[in-house]
Amino acid sequence: MRITFPYMGSSPLVFKQLLSELGHEVVVPPPPSKRTLDLGTKYAPEFACIPFKILLGTYLEAIALGADTIVSTGGVGPCRAGYYGELHRRILHDLGYEVRLLILEPPLRRPGDFLRALSALVGSPLTWLRLPGILRRVWTKLNVLDRVEKAAHAIRPYEVTPGETSRVYNDCLKAIDAATTVAEIRAAEAESLARLAKVPQDRTRQPLKVALVGEIYVVLEPFANHNVQIMLEEMGVIAERSIYLAEWTRGNAIVAGEKNIKGAARPYLSELVGGHGLNSIGETVIYARRGFDGVIQLAPFACIPEIVAKSILPRVSRELDIPVLTLFLDEQTGEAGIRTRLEAFIDLLAARRKKREGQVAWAAI
Ligand code: SF4
Repeated sequence: MRITFPYMGSSPLVFKQLLSELGHEVVVPPPPSKRTLDLGTKYAPEFACIPFKILLGTYLEAIALGADTIVSTGGVGPCRAGYYGELHRRILHDLGYEVRLLILEPPLRRPGDFLRALSALVGSPLTWLRLPGILRRVWTKLNVLDRVEKAAHAIRPYEVTPGETSRVYNDCLKAIDAATTVAEIRAAEAESLARLAKVPQDRTRQPLKVALVGEIYVVLEPFANHNVQIMLEEMGVIAERSIYLAEWTRGNAIVAGEKNIKGAARPYLSELVGGHGLNSIGETVIYARRGFDGVIQLAPFACIPEIVAKSILPRVSRELDIPVLTLFLDEQTGEAGIRTRLEAFIDLLAARRKKREGQVAWAAI
């Protein structure tokens, strides 16, 4: 099999190792670009959400590079993500590409489907014996990637030289990519964290704190959200993302988790609305309690779960006194528009903080 997969954040480094250790020839798709989105938009139904279009464009680019099999994840619940695989397969077949699509369904919800797709991926009995070791290595890599990325995000708002953190972080990714054993991956992590800590920083700054919530693909893939997290950090704002892949996998695929988020959302929304709609509410509540200055909801245009969340967020915002900005994203969205809205939102948050500090100083006199 010449196998490919969807591109999302730094996860391609993990999928590349996993699939090549399982004995496949891996076709790493190119990072999503305008060309990817144009391709997906051309062949997807007009009403499809932006993750669907980027994934379709990614598959077409990978097929052009020689891929004959696509492995992707499925989904359950009242959201069209569960139909992505079948719809992608039909569109690709209608275009004349006889590719095979292997859909990994959530193992705890659809164990039979998950095992069938896994068997096709694992293949020989010898590989089954090696599977625990392979999973240990890729799980280590996934966690290391998350920790190193979090370290870079924590440093960037304080960097003295604009762009320095990103430059060091990109070098770190290359070192982690080259590491394959658990010992090598851990050594690459230690070296990466040490290098990032050496980035010159101005710790006298008191950055605003903003959280990013929303649908998983547009939260995790910088191309889909116009690099909003780094854009905010380069404006000197701490931008905490609600989703990291290892944590999400642990909380959704390995153990049935996220009780805190559901509990926090319950006064406002208690029904599953599909996708990450409920999470967007619960996480906003949690970030308000943690004293964040504001929340940004990232939502694919026409994404029903996030539209439901958006209709409830004004009440959360009012009752918990936390400003919320929603950014809807589709193929028409431009970086300049996003930047302008972020700048206006940051100005608003800075004015609120100044006013609050003024009131505290006045009360102390
Ligand atoms: S959560 Fe939203 S964007 Fe994601 S698949 Fe469902 S409808 Fe599309």
